[in-house]
Order: sequence, then structure tokens, then C-alpha cells
Amino acid sequence: MDWLGDKMFADRAEIYIRSGKGGDGHVSFRRELYVPAGGPDGGDGGKGGDLIFEVDEGLNTLSDFRYRRKYMAENGENGGKKRCTGKDGADLVVKVPLGTIIREKETGKVIADMSQPNQREVILKGGRGGKGNQHYATATMQVPKYAQPGQKAQELTVILELKLIADVGLVGFPNVGKSTLLSRVTNAKPKIANYHFTTLRPNLGVVDLEGGGFVIADIPGLIEGASQGLGLGHEFLRHIERTKVIIHLVDAASTEGRDPIEDINKINAELAAYNPEIAKRPQVIAANKIDVLMEDEVESVLQKLNDTFKPQGIDVFPISAVSGKGVKELLYHVKGMLKNLDQEPIVFEREFFLEDMAYSNEPYSVWKEDETTYVVEGPRIERMLGYTNLESEKGFEFFQNFLKNNGILDELEALGIQEGDTVRMYGLQFDYYK
Ligand code: GDP
Ligand code: MG
Repeated sequence: MDWLGDKMFADRAEIYIRSGKGGDGHVSFRRELYVPAGGPDGGDGGKGGDLIFEVDEGLNTLSDFRYRRKYMAENGENGGKKRCTGKDGADLVVKVPLGTIIREKETGKVIADMSQPNQREVILKGGRGGKGNQHYATATMQVPKYAQPGQKAQELTVILELKLIADVGLVGFPNVGKSTLLSRVTNAKPKIANYHFTTLRPNLGVVDLEGGGFVIADIPGLIEGASQGLGLGHEFLRHIERTKVIIHLVDAASTEGRDPIEDINKINAELAAYNPEIAKRPQVIAANKIDVLMEDEVESVLQKLNDTFKPQGIDVFPISAVSGKGVKELLYHVKGMLKNLDQEPIVFEREFFLEDMAYSNEPYSVWKEDETTYVVEGPRIERMLGYTNLESEKGFEFFQNFLKNNGILDELEALGIQEGDTVRMYGLQFDYYK
């Protein structure tokens, strides 16, 4: 399952996304023979397209996002005369691999974790279309020359981050035999070679066992300093985050002259430095390459490993990834460990909400309806009116401060509001005085 082909493995990307703007409402008047001044017939603007993310299980990397950085849904068309409604803008569906986390760039907060097959999320909503002047004729205002503008688009710069979804993470120094073990126990075909950093991308494989298997990810190239971004290891540490059990592979035969206990301690220190939660996950040690050791050497290294790690609650299994010795026992043990754990996948909670943003996709809009009437609309205004008692002096003062602090008064001024003009908000009318 060499699912990456020759593509460079990419598991992080930065892109700009935007929904469609709503089309503006239109201002026009009926022109009929023998009717000198027809009524208003300006149509509504169309809705802007949504910016949607969708999981595509055929994708395995974020490489496509290296070549295209901007993703914009279509704007709604403006309304036309004769009550013509503008066409809605088309949605844009951005396809991402399973396990992609979308974060807002500035805060790093999670917007969505695309971790379910077929998951689909509207990340940015298209703006609603503005109403045409056909809606604004009243008894006193027969010739409304104003229509509602379309709602603005929403835009964000986001970081996409791929965190593979696997039950078990395989960690260990380079060359301890991770790829060999993965290729032996799963359908994966990773590259195996006797030099460091052969594995330049994580590999996933399915272990088939009687009564149900599990998914293993080979986390390549963990080395000292990886948690500080030294070396390649750091690039891949994020893939451990969703794994529930860690198989810690070690070269029990010290074929490269290192001490197995030191190796394990170093890697565990790296994991803890990257994320203390990961260091707490259940772990099992697989003492590999026992085929090159004499029986009494195996006994002695196992003794040492057990003396050091048993007290930490970590079991040790002697194996040979090459001959297959001990591998079955290891796998069934891991399966047992998984069975005792929460079966829910590790999912990252949403932390970022567009409403929290300063510009917050137009929390309100202010526009001029006719010569002396101005309209203020928007979800925040509506909410504010819902919980403010304007009858009380305190409530009214609070509301006025809200209008001032949010720049709404400034906008009214900019539109040219005069003393005594009317401000309309959700069925309420106010006279404007400075
Ligand atoms: P990785 O870097 O941890 O993925 O290690 P590899 O799987 O690429 O293996 C590195 C080298 O160790 C290769 O030459 C393998 O053939 C060898 N190797 C892996 N497992 C064993 C084993 O159980 N016994 C022996 N003798 N060699 C092994
Ligand atoms: Mg490898």
C-alpha cells in the first residue's frame, strides 16, 4: 500500500479561504406605458457560496495545497430590475485527507478536525443577498431609492495539518527495524534500508488479527532534539497524537553500538517534551533483532530492560522483525491493551469560532434606506436588543454605548446622518440626536 507514490509527503499547508459575498439588492422602478411613475421593482441579490471542507479518503497528503493557496467560493449576483433575483454563488468544496485538522493561523485554534469518513463542514458561510428596493415601499415612502447591500464575504488564513489516524504508533531510533516490522505485520510496503532517515514519511498499515485488527503508524526518524524542531523527527511527531498505544521498538542487539535503555529513555523524553499527554499513553517495548544474539545475551538484555521499565508499568517483548519470532505474542498483547481503552478516536475539539473574531463577518451592517432613514442590522444587534431593556434608563444607556463602542455611530455619521433622522433596527425606531 505505497499510497503516496512519488509525491513528496506533505502534512502541513497554509491556505487562504473565502466564502462568496452576497449580491447587492437592486434599485429600479417599473416602466409601463401610461403609468407615469411605476412602483419599485428592484430584485434581491443572490446568496454568496459557502466554503466547505470535505474528507476524501482517496487523498493521503496535503501536497495539492502546495500548488494552490487560494480557495474562494463564488459571489452572489446582484439583483436586477423587474424583480429579478441575482443568481446564488456556487459553493466551493475543498477536499482534504482523513485526519486533517484546520486551524486559524493567528491563534492556532482548531476550527475543525476532519477525522470522520465523509465528514463535511461549512467553514465559511456565504453572505446573504441584499434586498431590492421592491421591499422598501411604505405608505410614506413610495419611491425608495435605496436597496440593501449584500453581506460581506468571510475570509481566513488557515493552517491545514494532517494527523494520521492510527490505533498504534511505532516509535524508535532510526534503523531499529520499524519499517521491517510494519512490512512484516501489515499490508504496508515501506522502504527498508540500513541508513538513518530512510523513512521520510509516516506509513500506515493494517494488522489483521483473528477477531479484529488495528492500524499501526510507523513514525519515522525520532531523534534527540526532535521536540525542539531539530532534525526530521519533529515533522512527524504530530502523527503520534492520535495513537492510543505506543510500541517502542529498540535494537536489543545494539548493532549500532548504542545502549537500548538509553535509547528508550531518550525517545520517551522527546515524546514528553513534545506533549506530556503522549508520554502518559500506554506503551510496550519490543526488543528487536534478538536473532543476532545468543540465548544468554537475550536473557541478559531482557533482564535489564524489565528491571528498568517494568516498575514504570511497561512490558517488554523480545522479537525478531526479520524472522518473525515473538511478533505474534507482541501483536496480541497490543490488541489486549487497545481493548481496555476507550474505543473513541482521538478528536480535536473546536476552539475557534468566527463570531469571536474582531471583524467577525460583519456583526452588523449599517445602510441608508431613504433620505432620512437608516437601518442597522446584524446578529449581534439582534442579540443585544433581545437582552436589553430599553425602557429603563440604564438599559438605554448601555445600548447607546454599545452602538458607540462598536463603531456603529461612526458609520451612521459617515453615511451622512443628520439630527432628527430615523434609525431603524428590528422593528424599533429611534430619532437620531448627537
Ligand atoms: P527503521 O529505520 O527503524 O525503519 O529500520 P528498518 O526497518 O529500515 O531496518 C534497519 C535495518 O535493520 C535493516 O537493514 C533491516 O534489515 C535490519 N533489521 C530490522 N529488523 C531486524 C531484525 O529483527 N533482525 C536483524 N538482524 N536485522 C533487522
Ligand atoms: Mg523506517
